Amino acid sequence: MTTILFTDTHQFADWLATKRDSTIVGFVPTMGALHEGHGSLFELARSQCDLVIASIYVNNLQFNSSSDFDRYPRTLDEDVAMCQSRSVDAVWAPSQLDLFPDGQQLLTTGENALEYEGRDRPGHFVGVATVVDRLLSIVAPDRMYLGAKDHQQISVITSMCGQLHQYVNIVRCPTIREHDGLAISSRNRFLTQHGRSQAPIISLALQHMIDTWRAGETEPTTLIAQATSELQNINGATVHYIAVLDGHEMQLTMSVKQGDTAIIAVSIDNVRLIDNMQFVNV
Ligand code: AMP
Repeated sequence: MTTILFTDTHQFADWLATKRDSTIVGFVPTMGALHEGHGSLFELARSQCDLVIASIYVNNLQFNSSSDFDRYPRTLDEDVAMCQSRSVDAVWAPSQLDLFPDGQQLLTTGENALEYEGRDRPGHFVGVATVVDRLLSIVAPDRMYLGAKDHQQISVITSMCGQLHQYVNIVRCPTIREHDGLAISSRNRFLTQHGRSQAPIISLALQHMIDTWRAGETEPTTLIAQATSELQNINGATVHYIAVLDGHEMQLTMSVKQGDTAIIAVSIDNVRLIDNMQFVNV
């Protein structure tokens, strides 16, 4: 099979309409610069759906500065090749005008968008919700595949879908990591060599939180203090937050239990990195 590339939304929608009958449609929204993390979403979608669609849209609304938006890598040819290698049926890569011919009417987000990434990146989740809502309106997939790495994003998108009657089954996909544990991200390429060598401390700190909990510690503040002191070993890093959340919700947990989630955001070399892990017993 050959992955078909559409940049025109009408053509994409017409093509999709011919495919939809008795077909499970899987959708993977991305901003391109595809890596193995995205690849794993495509693979899972491929194994569960008849038709797999990837979108590539660098969402201006979710960047906090125009320079961040401008420097975001655009690698469409490589991305289509990656989709082809994972047997994605179609890549839909609309322009802003094509996706929003009527202009961008911003949605509002709820309480789960207020803290953490929402606090540090004002407007970020409004941008995410606005674009994902529009993408879903056009693709109307049965299943949408999202990475667990973006924990709060899944929460915000799930709420948006509920409020706006976007009936889609959201599949939470495991975080794919480099061999040293660093969560794969398109931002990793912006790290200096030194920063890159230090960055695995983030996933190690998360893993140590899980290990300490497995050894019997259930007090979130103790686990957070431990992780904080480990992250302070990274030269020039800024720790934005470390928190332990109740299950997949965005509320803090009072006493850490199976299924809770530890989340961390740290900037190294001014590159903001986020990661999380779930407390599960082996
Ligand atoms: P992005 O292109 O960064 O907007 O990401 C598109 C999708 O890929 C989102 O659902 C992300 O959570 C997911 N994703 C990004 N990095 C990873 C990773 N390392 N492992 C699994 N999923 C990821």
